[in-house]
Amino acid sequence: MQDAETAREQLPAHTLRVAGVVDDSIVDGPGLRFSVFVQGCPHHCPGCHNPQTHPFEGGTLMTVEELLGRFTGNPLLRGVTFSGGEPFCQPGPLAELGRLVHEAGGDVYCYTGYTYEQLLQNPDPDVQALLGETDVLVDGPFLLEQRDLTLTFRGSANQRLIDVKESQRQGRAVELRLDD
Ligand code: SF4
Repeated sequence: MQDAETAREQLPAHTLRVAGVVDDSIVDGPGLRFSVFVQGCPHHCPGCHNPQTHPFEGGTLMTVEELLGRFTGNPLLRGVTFSGGEPFCQPGPLAELGRLVHEAGGDVYCYTGYTYEQLLQNPDPDVQALLGETDVLVDGPFLLEQRDLTLTFRGSANQRLIDVKESQRQGRAVELRLDD
């Protein structure tokens, strides 16, 4: 089985390995959203709802341009959500897509099995670029023992909705409190 790094190196430029897309999601963030589920995840959280997204091969190759067109083609969409799979295993093309979505007036939610603090320490410029194009980061692995179906946009209580811009301003993780 391919690892994340090999899979990433073999991807053509401006291209993502995608497990699937949802054109009009209402469960992956606020408003109507275009959700991109990337293929490949190294975390293997017990109880994961998307185990078919774990292998780093398979899925479908889609260009950034194609994905952007799906977003801009529907004026009712508020933004995009990157989920998976692990978006931070394909950070370059997702950062590019996030930048273009911002230019088109949309916002960006991004799910990750890493914590915000782990991502901050990652020296990979593409990882930092994707973090920089993320408005709200839903961070941390899915923990079955902390599963809570009442949480907004999250599966387990350890996961946080991080306001990335505010966190960068304050130098600490600042959470959105949608459930209060
Ligand atoms: S990070 Fe997400 S996709 Fe990956 S194993 Fe955990 S729950 Fe599943």
